[in-house]
Amino acid sequence: MRPTGALHLGHYHGALKNWVRLQAELPCLFFVADWHALTTHYDDPSVIETSVWDMVVDWLAAGVDPSQATLFIQSKVPEHAELHLLLSMATPLGWLERVPTYKDQQEKLADRDLATYGFLGYPLLQAADVLIYRASQVPVGDDQVPHIEMMREIARRFNHLYGKEKGFEEKAQEAVKKLGSKRAKLYNELRTQFQQQGSENALEQAKAMLDDAQNLSMIDRERLFGFLEGSRKLILSEPQALLTESSRLPGLDGQKMSKSYGNAIALREEKDVVSKKVRTMPTDPARVRRTDPGDPDKCPVWQFHVVYSDDATREWAAKGCRSAGIGCLECKQPVIDAIIREQEPMHERAQQYLDDPSLVRAIVADGCDHARKLAQDTMRDVREAMGLGYS
Ligand code: SF4
Repeated sequence: MRPTGALHLGHYHGALKNWVRLQAELPCLFFVADWHALTTHYDDPSVIETSVWDMVVDWLAAGVDPSQATLFIQSKVPEHAELHLLLSMATPLGWLERVPTYKDQQEKLADRDLATYGFLGYPLLQAADVLIYRASQVPVGDDQVPHIEMMREIARRFNHLYGKEKGFEEKAQEAVKKLGSKRAKLYNELRTQFQQQGSENALEQAKAMLDDAQNLSMIDRERLFGFLEGSRKLILSEPQALLTESSRLPGLDGQKMSKSYGNAIALREEKDVVSKKVRTMPTDPARVRRTDPGDPDKCPVWQFHVVYSDDATREWAAKGCRSAGIGCLECKQPVIDAIIREQEPMHERAQQYLDDPSLVRAIVADGCDHARKLAQDTMRDVREAMGLGYS
C-alpha cells in the first residue's frame, strides 16, 4: 500500500479487512510501498515521510497482526530494486506501455508530469515486489488483474531465458531419486498425467508435494518444478491473482472515497467528527421537505446502509425513505452508530502504539529482517542464473 496520506474507511473495507482475514489463512507479507509512492509523488516526497508510520499504525489499528503477518517497508529491502533492475533488462517496452492503468493514471493525474521512466516501470517494480517472495497469490481488485498477468509473463520469460541448464534432464532425474522411492514414484506418475493428459490437478498435487519435501535443496526443487512442465528450471514462480469480495464504501458524496476529494472518514476519526460528517451528508435531492418521499438508490447514505446495516435496518430505512415515514437524520443514525462501533477497537488498538512509537519501529524492523532473508534467497538464485553468481 502506498503511503500517500491518512487511511480512511474506504481503505478498510476495500483492502484491510481482507488482509486481516488472509493473515489467519496464509503466510502474508504486507509492505509500505514507499518507492511506488515516489513514482507519482517524486516532486513532493514530504507526504511519504509523514504517512509511513501513520499508515502502519492504521494497519495495526485495523487488526493486522505482526505475530501472524510480516510488515515491512519496501525501501528497507533493497533487493526489490535489484530484481527490478535485472528484470528490466529482458522486459519488452511494449509490455509496460500496454498496461491499461499506465495511460489511465496519466490521464487521471493530469496535474502531474508522469512521462517518466519510473512511472512507466512501476508495474515492473510491482512484479519484482511479488516475484522476489515467490508469492503464490496476490490479493487485488479487478483493475489490477492485467498487472498480475504481466508478472506471470515476466516470470515465464525469465525462466525461459535463464532456466536453461547443461545436463538438465540428468540432474532432474538425480533430484527425483532424492525424493525417496515412494515420492519419486508419485512424482513420475503425476508428471506423466500432466504432460500426457494435461491434468492441472496432477500438476498442483506434484507442486504441493515438492513444497512439502524437506530434504530438497532449493536448486533441486527448482529443477523438479521445471521438470514437471518442461526442460527448464523454474527460478521465479508465477503468482495468481486472488480476487476477493470486498465491499466498496463510497465517499460521503457517493463518489470514490478519497482524502483529496474531501469526502472521506478517516480510519481513526473522532466520534463527534464521524457524527457530524454523516449528519451533513447529502441525501436524495428529491427529499427537499421531510414529507417528500425519497429513493434510496439516489442517496449516498443508502450505500452506507448496504455496508453497515443488517437486513431489518435496511428494510426500515428503505421503507421509511420511500414513504417519507422517517427523516434523513433518523435514517442516518444507525449508520453513525455502526461506524463508531466499528472504530472503537481500532482506537483501542492504536493507543498503545501512539503512546510508544518505538513499538511500531520494532515491529517494522523485525518485518524488514524477515522479508530481507526471503528476498536474499531468491536473489542468490537469480544472480546465479543471470551469470552474476561470482563472489
Ligand atoms: S431517508 Fe435515508 S435513504 Fe432516504 S434520502 Fe434520506 S438519508 Fe437517504
